[in-house]
Order: sequence, then structure tokens, then C-alpha cells
Amino acid sequence: MSFQADPYKKAVDATAIFTETDLSGAITYVNDRFCALSGYSANELLGQNHRILKSGHHSSEFYTEMWQVLASQGIWNGDICNRRKDGSLYWVSSTMVALTDPVTGLMKGYAAIRFDVTERYELVGRLKTLAYCDSLTGLPNRAALQASFDEFAEYPVERHRDHALCIVDIDRFGDINEVHGHDVGDMVLRQIGLRAQAFLVDSSAKVFHWGGDEFVVLFKDWHQQEELLIWVERLMEHLAQPIPLHGGALCVTCSAGVSEFKADGTTPDLLLRYSNLALYKAKSLGPKHVVCYGKDEFLQERQNEELQRQLRQAMKSGDLQVYYQPKLDLRSGLVLGAEALLRWIHPLHGTVPPLDFLPRIENLPVALEIDQWVLEQALQFLQKNFEKSPAFCLSVNISARQFQSRDFPARLKNILDKYPKVGFQQLELEILESTAIGDFVQVNLNINAIKSMGVGVALDDFGVGYSSLAYLKKISPQTIKIDKTFILGVLVNDDDFILTQSIINLTSSFDFGVVAEGVETVEHMMLLSRLGCPVVQGYGVLPPVAQDAFLAWLHQHQAGDLGAGQWQPQWDLKHRYLLAAKRFYEHVRTLKSPELAQPAHCLEGMHALDLWAMAIGDSHYGHDREFSVLMHLHRSFVAGLDAERDPPLETISTGEFRAEQNAIGAEVYRRVQHLFERIFWMPAGGAELGMAIAV
Ligand code: C2E
Ligand code: MG
Ligand code: MG
Repeated sequence: MSFQADPYKKAVDATAIFTETDLSGAITYVNDRFCALSGYSANELLGQNHRILKSGHHSSEFYTEMWQVLASQGIWNGDICNRRKDGSLYWVSSTMVALTDPVTGLMKGYAAIRFDVTERYELVGRLKTLAYCDSLTGLPNRAALQASFDEFAEYPVERHRDHALCIVDIDRFGDINEVHGHDVGDMVLRQIGLRAQAFLVDSSAKVFHWGGDEFVVLFKDWHQQEELLIWVERLMEHLAQPIPLHGGALCVTCSAGVSEFKADGTTPDLLLRYSNLALYKAKSLGPKHVVCYGKDEFLQERQNEELQRQLRQAMKSGDLQVYYQPKLDLRSGLVLGAEALLRWIHPLHGTVPPLDFLPRIENLPVALEIDQWVLEQALQFLQKNFEKSPAFCLSVNISARQFQSRDFPARLKNILDKYPKVGFQQLELEILESTAIGDFVQVNLNINAIKSMGVGVALDDFGVGYSSLAYLKKISPQTIKIDKTFILGVLVNDDDFILTQSIINLTSSFDFGVVAEGVETVEHMMLLSRLGCPVVQGYGVLPPVAQDAFLAWLHQHQAGDLGAGQWQPQWDLKHRYLLAAKRFYEHVRTLKSPELAQPAHCLEGMHALDLWAMAIGDSHYGHDREFSVLMHLHRSFVAGLDAERDPPLETISTGEFRAEQNAIGAEVYRRVQHLFERIFWMPAGGAELGMAIAV
């Protein structure tokens, strides 16, 4: 029995829209409600294929799926958009069922019961328009872009490659607002938006108002970079036409950053980021520039993403570790604290120093996670081992981005609260000078907030950055760490010496603490101590080591170990060249071939010992026979070095010559050592041995 003869027909006809079709889709029955809604008469519809009602709103995949479900399950539910005879659209909520012949059991057609839901769709449409439309420019807004992104995610991957995204930014928009007022600024935004929209109207590209003075153009079905770039450049030209204003004209230009899908797995969010990076570069080139996110940057970015993933993994697996390097008080020989330094113990590459990976992740979220993680590790270390040593202070390096963020002090406080046994004064944060320059006002606020908690702030790598006095006074850190490049050269390089001396004097006039980093030898410590630098850090005390090794070293360390506190407090600074000469001859002793020892301890071609003799040795010890012998041996050693570099020697074999050179070198060293003890060491004793750390 067909539905036409069904006793329920009356009830259905009274409430719903009803049709029947045969297996080919030809309409075999329509009720009056259907005719009323579609605008067709029954005669016009009967015998026609159902396709006559198609609106074009749904993709062919939509219909394929519908027929597949109907064939396999016998029923399909869903909303369909159809077209009336007058061309207007309407929406129906449909239930379609397959009809079977009761005698043969074979499928013979389809019946559809529908309800008009057009009003609901129109309402949703209106709401969507409101939610997706920017009220100022009338363009689709950021939410609409996100909706396009969501749609995009449903496309097959092959089609992703044809997409590209461009961010357009108005050059010096702030100036327009400032000079002409916000009304003119708004007008410019509307104009630029309209022009972009008009320019792209015949293309598959769509323009969105991203916010502020930025617009996003989403390109679909673009294939070649050149074609795209030509388009974007033409768009920039179009946007740069003068805008009429008060009888005159306003010249406004835009810059753009473009990026394209290059490989599977690129998401729209990444595309947005790449375009942003390209825009950033375009802006740095001046107004009206277009930059396309290049292949190399793309690759680099992918590698950095991978690095980010590996680092997150390394934090979990224990491959990322915090090493500790002591800070030593030169006056007392006590260990005042340590600096926490990150190490990546890579399963393939061994120990990777932080500067090999931190700069690459600087702008990625993992940088903040690492900072946070290091802080937690450092605080755990303090809580576990130094609860009873409240003066032991651990320094932790904080990345610029972290330190510049507004909520950093609050986040720090939250972390600190988790370690109640750690005194706030036991923590010091190290920031680079460049960090403060980045966002001076915020950094200043943060420094004050952190200092008022009792946590210390040190300015790291001082001397290599801007080092402006006015700025130093304003940010007023508690401590300054002199960069290691100056300290490494302080014994032999007069510039480094003068700079180091000036920084130390400066810190004492400003009443800042000062730490010298990169202190590799006792001789460096002696000179720094003489210059008035109280605290040092460096391989000469201990290289950064893992937690257990640090604690073991600390356990064994004695206050007088490195001689701190046992040196003469005042010696003529000209003697510093003798410290360098001692380093040279000590170094020579460790070499098989002395000629390898050149020329680290020379200043402008002069050997440190000659410099010392000239600066002070001659006048102080010129009358002394010991001094004459020393200088004679030294000259003979240096001449030997030259001869070694100028072979061949006929009278003496290389082996014999080297043995003689070694003997002379050892003798010079012994004599320099003797002088060294006379000049720099106190006659007896010095600091008390025993206690190793500050409490
Ligand atoms: P920095 O804070 O100035 O750290 C001092 C650097 O000097 C460390 O390098 C240390 O190993 C090295 N050093 C110490 N003594 C000597 C010495 O006597 N001679 C020489 N030539 N070098 C010495 P490292 O560990 O490679 O760290 C490099 C930089 O990486 C640090 O410079 C710091 O800016 C950054 N860094 C290290 N750990 C972290 C961290 O946990 N977070 C952040 N944000 N940055 C870190
Ligand atoms: Mg540091
Ligand atoms: Mg440093």
C-alpha cells in the first residue's frame, strides 16, 4: 500500500510537508503543504526529478553521504536547504525513508517528511552575521576568520596546499590617530577595509578585519608564490591611493606579511604566525613592504617546533638538568651561594650548553616553561639542602620575555609560597641588560615588586650591553655581574683591565654589589680582590656541576682553600703583569713543546714578563741579581721559542733543544713563583680554615 492510500495520510498532510519519489528521484507524490512552501503546483512537480529543488548550498559530498545512509540504513535525518520557484531559499528538517514493496520486498522509492525550519535558520544567520561582523568596517571579523579556519580543517589535506594567508598592517597608524584624531583613524580603517574588499571581489580571497589596524586576507586556491606576491603588491598599491580628507588628501600606506602552506601538518594558526613573522620583517624594512615567509625560515621554524617538543620531553625524562656553580667571597673564602645553570644532557649530542638552544626557543612558549621549571628545581634544591643556611643565595637566570611579563611577580610569589622553608632572600634573579631595555616601564615595576618581596635582582653580563649610567641608576639592581669577556682578559688586556676597574668603582659609588664571572685562575682572583671586587664565580673556583657534585665539593671546601684572605691587600697594580707572566710559565710547564704556549700572555707583542719589568720590575728590582738572572733566562727562553719556530738547528737535535727549553722554562717559573710569593702573599697565615659556607 502506498502512502497515498495510507489511513495516516490525513494526519501527516495536516502537519508536515510530504513527498514521495521513485528510485530515480522522480517525484511521484507531493502534498499541498509542499506546494505552498516551494511555490510550485503539484503538476509542475510530479514527474520532475527532486533535483529541481536543489539550492546549491550543500556540497555533492553531502548528497552522496545522504544516499549512502538511506541505502544502507533505510532512513536519513537532517536539515536541507532548498530553493523555491521564485529562487528564494528555505530550510527543512527532513526525515527520509526507503519504501519497499510489501510483496517482493524490493526497494521501490523514497518518502520524505519535512518541517519548515527557515525561521530558525534565518535567526541563526542573523546572529552569525552579528557575531562574525566587525561593527566598524563591516568586514568579517576575527571570529569569522576562526570559522573559516575550522572549515579549512575539514578540507582534504591535498587542498591545504592551495591556501595562503596575508596580514596587512597600516603603516604608522598611531600617528594618524594622534595627528588627525580617532574619527579620522576609524575612517581610514573603513576605507582600507572597503578597498581591500573591492580589490579582491572577483577572486577567491576574502578579507577580514583582524583588529586594530590589521587585516587578514585568506587566499584559497592559490598555487604559485610569484602570482600571489604580485597580487599582494598590487593590493598594497591599491590601498596606498590617497584618501580624501577635508578637501585635501591623506597618504596612507600598508605593509604585508604573507605565508603559504608548504607542507602537510601546517595549521591555520601556524600560517597566521608565519605571516606575523613575515610582517614583522616587512615592518623592519620600512613602510609599504611585502615579505613572504620564506622556505628557510619555514624550515627553521619547523626545527624550532621540534626542539620545543624535545625540550618538553627532556624536562620530563630528566635529560634537562640544573647545574650549580659557586659564588665565592674573596675576603673570607666563604661560599656565598651559587648560580643555577641549565644543561641538556642529550642522549646523542652529550652535554648541550644553554646558549645552543635557549636563543632558538626565545619566543616559543616552552621558554617560559623552562624558566618556571628551573626556578622550581632551584627552590627544591634550596629547601632540601640549605634550610639552615639562610645566607646561602641561589641565582637563577630569567629570560627577557618572562621578566617583562606583567604577571611575573605574582607568578614568582606563587612558586615561592610552595617552598615555605626557603627564605625569599635566598633567591636572586639574574636578568640581562637588554631585558630591561625591552620594556623599561614594566621591567622597572617588576624589579620593584620583586625587590619588595625580598628577592634579589642582579644585572647579568654587565658591560657588553648598553651600560648607560642613567638607566642603571633607575633600575637599581642589587648586584652587577661583570661580563666574563672582560674578566678573561683582565690580566693582559689593558682595556679589559680599565673597564673592569671602572665597573667595580662604579658599583661601589652606587652601592651595588658586584660579582666577577669567568674567573678562571687564582691570579684573576688576586687581581680582582685587589681591585675591590668581593665576589667571584668561575672555573677557577669550580665549573658548573650537577647537584650532587656541587654538594660534595661544598662539603670538602675549606674557607682558605684558594688562598682567599691570605693575599696582600695593597700591591702596586703594575705588578699585575707578573700575574700574567706566572700564568704563562705555569702553562708552559704543562706542555710537551713549549712553542705551543704562544702568544696568549702577550700584550701588543710584548711578553707579560717584559711588560712587568718595564712597568715596575726594573725600577724596583733592577739592582737585584736575582732579577737580572730571571730576565736573562726569560729572554733566552723567548729567543728559544723564536728559534723553534725558525728551524732547522744544525748544532743541536730537536729533542735536546726542547729538553733545554723545558728546563729554562721550569727555572723561570720557579723564580717567578718566588717573586709572586714575595709580592702578593701575606707573610704568614691569613683567613681561618674551617667553615665553608656563609650562614
Ligand atoms: P650567564 O648567566 O652569564 O652564566 C655564566 C656563564 O659563564 C655560564 O655559561 C658558565 O658556565 C660560564 N662560566 C662560568 N665560569 C666560567 C669561566 O671561568 N670561564 C668561562 N669561559 N666561562 C665560565 P653557560 O652555563 O653556558 O650559560 C650561558 C648563558 O645561558 C648564561 O650566561 C645565561 O645567560 C643563560 N642561561 C643558563 N642557564 C639558564 C637558565 O636556566 N635560564 C635562562 N633563561 N638562561 C640561562
Ligand atoms: Mg647568569
Ligand atoms: Mg653572565
